[in-house]
Order: sequence, then structure tokens, then C-alpha cells
Amino acid sequence: MPKNKFIPVARPDLTGNELSYLTTCITTSWISSAGEFIDRFEKSFADYIGTKYAVSSSNGTVALHLALLALGIGKGDEVIVPDLTFIASANAVTYTGAKPVLVDVDKMTWNVDPAVIVRKITSRTKAIMVVHLYGNPADMNVIMILAKRYNLYVIEDAAEAHGADMFMQNKKWIKVGSIGDVGCFSFYGNKIITTGEGGMIVTDDHQLAEKMRILRDHGQEPGRRYYHKIIGFNYRMTNLQAAIGLAQLERINKFVEKKRTIAKIYNKMFACIPGITLPPESDWAHNVYWMYSIIVNTPYPLSRDMLILALKNENIETRPFFYPLHELPPYKMINDFPNSSYLSKHGINLPSSVTLTIGDINRIATIIKHFA
Ligand SMILES: *Cc1c(COP(=O)(O)O)cnc(C)c1O
Repeated sequence: MPKNKFIPVARPDLTGNELSYLTTCITTSWISSAGEFIDRFEKSFADYIGTKYAVSSSNGTVALHLALLALGIGKGDEVIVPDLTFIASANAVTYTGAKPVLVDVDKMTWNVDPAVIVRKITSRTKAIMVVHLYGNPADMNVIMILAKRYNLYVIEDAAEAHGADMFMQNKKWIKVGSIGDVGCFSFYGNKIITTGEGGMIVTDDHQLAEKMRILRDHGQEPGRRYYHKIIGFNYRMTNLQAAIGLAQLERINKFVEKKRTIAKIYNKMFACIPGITLPPESDWAHNVYWMYSIIVNTPYPLSRDMLILALKNENIETRPFFYPLHELPPYKMINDFPNSSYLSKHGINLPSSVTLTIGDINRIATIIKHFA
């Protein structure tokens, strides 16, 4: 029996200038971590996010690591991290020798709850790592006030939220990643724009940017070859990655617009299904719906896991939400984080590619509605 067309949860669109720019890398032989595309990608990305500086890196995880190191975070320090996120957010803190202090998320917004953060601040707390989960901006207005009051750095893990923006008091609409001291992005293959593997840190602080550039290049002093003042890393992006990234960035507005359109269509189709909760969007922010996600619970007749299987049988790929970090062996804690546990158990990411067609969305939504 012919199977229905496979619909992946995410697939990049590489039909712009990607191949042409890559060809330039090959024909000019600039394929390593020097070359025109690195500078161009960094400058264009800083312009797009609205910061003075952007520092590229080999992936999003090391972008977070560089940001934390440049802020001087290390052994003996604590960093607040949401319990519901991809494990890289916490791991980057652990790499520095500091301790990630997990906080429960809000049941409605799926993001950190500022009231819960306050309860976890100690004399060792140095920073808050905010994650804009699945593309939905966290409440940075309140978090920045908190950070100021308690003298904490703010690192935005915007790995899932390229292009998401929010209304900040006095500043109007600005993009996430540009609000805290540093913002970190990932360009993994399923992210809103991709370089295959890749990352970027944005900041307005010249010194921080310089520190990160040195740290990503073995601690080598700029302009003084093989002179290493400190122990750094090889966390550089290649010109090949940057070539793809620049081509992707040329079309990011289209991608974000498409993601929001996909969400609108899904939302309409799921609006009146008992037991299905739609993804959050605050009236002061734009969610970019990196992954269009819903919460599935009674009275919907299928459990989340049963729905994943039912869709798999129809050749439709989905993802369960992340495990809460406190349920994973490296970060095991007995404390309870009721909201992240609940969301993790009932949340599902539906296919969200910019390459989805209306027909694909219809097919997915029809199956989900059929059970209800
Ligand atoms: C993807 C992701 C990262 C890590 O990015 P990589 O490029 O895969 O290393 C970090 N944090 C979050 C929230 C992510 O979704």
C-alpha cells in the first residue's frame, strides 16, 4: 500500500543563495574559519537583531559557554536556569564549573516565572539564563527589573527564537537576544535559520564581544600570532557555515512570517477541541513558533504518547516536549517542578517547517480533530 507523504517535524529551506555562496567558498578555497562570509554574517546578524556586535561560534551550546565565560561566571557561582528547556542551557553553565539552579516555569507561558526566580536567588547567584521556549518571548520587562535589583547578569538563550520581538518599556518593540547582557542563538539544522551546525552571541558590550572572540580562538591575543594569554577554545565558525547562514539570513523575514502563518492556521483548526491547549502568545510579544506546539490532556481521548504514535502511523513526525531537566540523571532533583513536569508530559511539537503546505497542515489537523 502506498504510504502517505512523510511530513518531518522540521526541514530547512536552502533554496536561496546558499549554494551560490558555498560555491564561492570552494572556488576561492576559503573553507576554514577565516573568510568574507564570517564577517558579513556577523555584521548582518547584529543588524538584524539590533545589537552592536555579533560573535559567531561553532554551535549554539558553545555560544552559551562563551557568553558565561566572558561574564566571568565559574566555580562557586549559581545561574538560574528554567527546568523546561533543552539540556544545553544547563550544560553550558556546568561546563564553567558554576551550578545551574533550576526553576519551574509558568503553566500558561511555558517560560520562567519571575516570582519563582526571586525565591531561588542566593548570595552566590550571578546570572539568570532566560530561555524563549519554542519561540515565545519570556517576560523580559520584569526579568530585567529583577536583574537590576539583585545585580545579576542576564543571558538570553534565544536558540529557538530568532526574530521574536517584544514591547519593552521606553524602547518600543525590540528583538529577543538584544535585551539581556548577551543573547545566544543556534543555527542547528532544525532552527529558524540554519548553518548546519552553528551559533552566534550578540551584545552591545564591546569588551564582552572582544573577550568572546579571544576565548573562541584558543585565547590568542588579536594581532599576535601564537601568543596565548589565557586558555581558550576552538569554538570558531567556518566560512562554509557563515556562507549558508548569510543566505538564510537574507530570507529570515519570510521564514518568520511563514512560521506565524502556520501557527495561525493550526490555531484556527484546533480552536474548539476539548483537551487541546494552543501555544501561548502574550499581547506584548510576537511568538515566532519555532516549533508549533500544543498541550494534549483529557478530555481529549488520546494521551500525548498515543497521539504521537497515531501520527507516526500516518507518516507524520512529531516530537514530545523536552524532559524537565530535574528528571534527567545529570540534574536529578527530588524537588518538584509541577508545571514543567505537566507541560513535558502533555506537550507535543507538530510539524513546523517553513516548507509545509496548506495541504500538509490540513492533513495533520484533520487526524488530530478526527479523534476528538
Ligand atoms: C538548540 C538549542 C541549543 C543548542 O544549540 P546547538 O546549536 O544545537 O548546540 C541551546 N538551547 C536551546 C534552548 C536550544 O533549543
